[in-house]
Amino acid sequence: MSILRERTLTVKELERKLALINTTRDILMPVDDDMAEHLRPFTFHGLVLAGRGKDGTTDCPFCGRDGKLGVNLETTQWRCYACNVGREGSKEFAGGNALTFVRLLWEYSLAATSAESYEQLRSDRGLASVKTLKAWGIARSITTGEWLVPQFTIDGRLHQLCRRVRIARVNRTSGSSFT
Ligand SMILES: [Zn+2]
Repeated sequence: MSILRERTLTVKELERKLALINTTRDILMPVDDDMAEHLRPFTFHGLVLAGRGKDGTTDCPFCGRDGKLGVNLETTQWRCYACNVGREGSKEFAGGNALTFVRLLWEYSLAATSAESYEQLRSDRGLASVKTLKAWGIARSITTGEWLVPQFTIDGRLHQLCRRVRIARVNRTSGSSFT
């Protein structure tokens, strides 16, 4: 007699499914060609930098204030003159560099991703549990609304933050890298 029973996916199977996020229907959105490569960590994550010379500004993704995030277009050092988020500079002007920006963006996005969003992605991808998504650090971007897929260095530090962009029949993904 045959016994039908619910089959639970093994960890390896889960991971293989999850890996599809990186390989299926994902493509790098075009980056503004006029924008220098070193500013890509900002533009890649949806920030529109305005300014000339070395002084750029954009809306702060962390507090939402218009034009309050100042970015040095040469060095990528940034700070928000409204919320002073960040951890690198002085107490008066915290901020950071491009890598600090992306790490903060990821942390804020993780904190802001709702249970409903995770459940939707889980269902979308046919995963058994949202725990897998969370364990991988996947988060919905506070800037673009797209899913962010972090990649880590061997010592566990965030190395790059890929965006999952759904475009039919194109199998590619990319991220902004810092090494
Ligand atoms: Zn701010």
